[in-house]
Amino acid sequence: MRIDLHAHSNVSDGTQPPAELIAAAAEAGLDVVALTDHDTTDGWAEASAAALKLGVALVPGMEVSCRTREGISVHLLSYLHDPAHPGLLEEITKSKDARFTRAERMVSLLAEDYPLSWDDVIHHVAPGATLGRPHIADALVAAGVVEDRSEAFETILTSRSRYWVQHYAPDPAAAVELVRAAGGVPVFAHPVASSRGRIVGEHTYREMIDAGLAGLEINHRDNPEQGRSFLRRLAAEHDLLVTGSSDYHGAGKPNLLGENTTSPEVLARIEELASGTAVVR
Ligand code: AMP
Ligand code: ZN
Ligand code: FE
Ligand code: FE
Repeated sequence: MRIDLHAHSNVSDGTQPPAELIAAAAEAGLDVVALTDHDTTDGWAEASAAALKLGVALVPGMEVSCRTREGISVHLLSYLHDPAHPGLLEEITKSKDARFTRAERMVSLLAEDYPLSWDDVIHHVAPGATLGRPHIADALVAAGVVEDRSEAFETILTSRSRYWVQHYAPDPAAAVELVRAAGGVPVFAHPVASSRGRIVGEHTYREMIDAGLAGLEINHRDNPEQGRSFLRRLAAEHDLLVTGSSDYHGAGKPNLLGENTTSPEVLARIEELASGTAVVR
């Protein structure tokens, strides 16, 4: 069984529509894939239909943008929650709207120095999709400013750049509670990915665990080995699930489907813990 629990479609900042993502998962020899777009579940219906047709099991999921009170970005994966839960829906709608305003502000700052307009960015966004820096990167690639998304993230768009603007996002422990309230299973995504920006301290783990955190995404390419041994100790100490995933974004990122995987036993635990929706198979 090959199980990959973290992938994005163009309903957020991946490059393929949900049905194409499922086809790519089948092509890559996966038995199970989770669709985890940023702050939206709008891709679930299309992905479910494709999963049934192509014989790949789909774990409906989402990646919730969060920020600690110190201003550190945290990504929380939610699996199998009720997509209509009002509290969770309210938070992700707030984040999604804030991402729009934030992108507008970043583009107006960038436009002072680069040949870039809001229309150039919107051109790369599927209707209704969650907006992110990758869409701005696509416009910078089209303008010939950078070679690809990765170069954009390493230079102009890093969180240390003067063009970077933050957006509203809920506190991670509050998001864990909401995911649980919605019958979902919360897993901390790439917790020690220091290349993306500052990483959280022990008190944030404690708060998230107290709020009902179920697991840690340890096997992810952005977690350095040193951080992984810390995470393994934490998982053992608090009986947390350990997952591994690709964080595939289609052509926009080098990450390949199935480059990290999760065990069938852990998927079975996730299914036991969930009450919001079921795996599509
Ligand atoms: P944002 O959420 O708007 O701050 O943008 C960050 C998101 O861009 C993260 O979720 C990354 O996974 C995603 N991303 C997509 N392509 C890349 C890339 N080539 N390098 C770094 N991050 C990327
Ligand atoms: Zn992303
Ligand atoms: Fe993430
Ligand atoms: Fe992701």
